[in-house]
Amino acid sequence: MGTEKITGIVLKEKEHGESSKQIFVLAKQVGKICLFAKGARKPKSKLLAATQPFCYSDFLVFQGRGFHSITQGESIETFYEMRTDMDRFLYGSYLLELVERTSQEGMEQDDVLELLLRTLWQIAKRKDNPRLCSVIFGLKFLQYSGWMPDMECCAVCGAKVSEVSYFSALAGGAVCTTHSESGSPISKGAIKAMEYVFHNSGQAIYRFRLSQEVLEELEQLVDASLQIHMNVKLKSKEFLDEPFF
Ligand SMILES: [Zn+2]
Repeated sequence: MGTEKITGIVLKEKEHGESSKQIFVLAKQVGKICLFAKGARKPKSKLLAATQPFCYSDFLVFQGRGFHSITQGESIETFYEMRTDMDRFLYGSYLLELVERTSQEGMEQDDVLELLLRTLWQIAKRKDNPRLCSVIFGLKFLQYSGWMPDMECCAVCGAKVSEVSYFSALAGGAVCTTHSESGSPISKGAIKAMEYVFHNSGQAIYRFRLSQEVLEELEQLVDASLQIHMNVKLKSKEFLDEPFF
């Protein structure tokens, strides 16, 4: 019991009663935490801005028995640009859902928090391609989760692969030509991009561009790997994969 300060990014909101809501926040040194925001849906609520999804905020939280209630909230960065463009909004929502669905309450994930903040910054402020940023996020996120595909030996038989041209998300790495049926073709561009993201950190991981073809290839690889290794298939992603007519 008592009051504590929590800083984090709002991943999700859930209506509660007439005018309140619950928010799920990925917080610094805390991990995912559910906070109750009383009256936050009232148009004049002081908590209105700070409790919106995408918002990076400071919260003063009263810790009761089995619940956390926000007494004060102040946004540090609203990332409002995420809401002014459909692509930015859809890919951004996908990132929030991915983190929300894969994180456990009370497990610190400061590396993921930093990655999410940086990625939103690239999309919102630098106006980088949101699709590419999401793929980069996915690769780094998989790496933080312990996923490290072996690109030197076949993931099926263990034989050394001198020139990788097939990859299996299921087996978790390159596959030799004998076991090419277990995987899909992978281009040199996709391998290079993947290794670049793995071996760099911070702002540097966003510093490259891809052709549309390689981007799509890498996106499929990331989606398949997330599905297999983290057991997530996201609603927001299904919407993104639908063609817009
Ligand atoms: Zn093999």
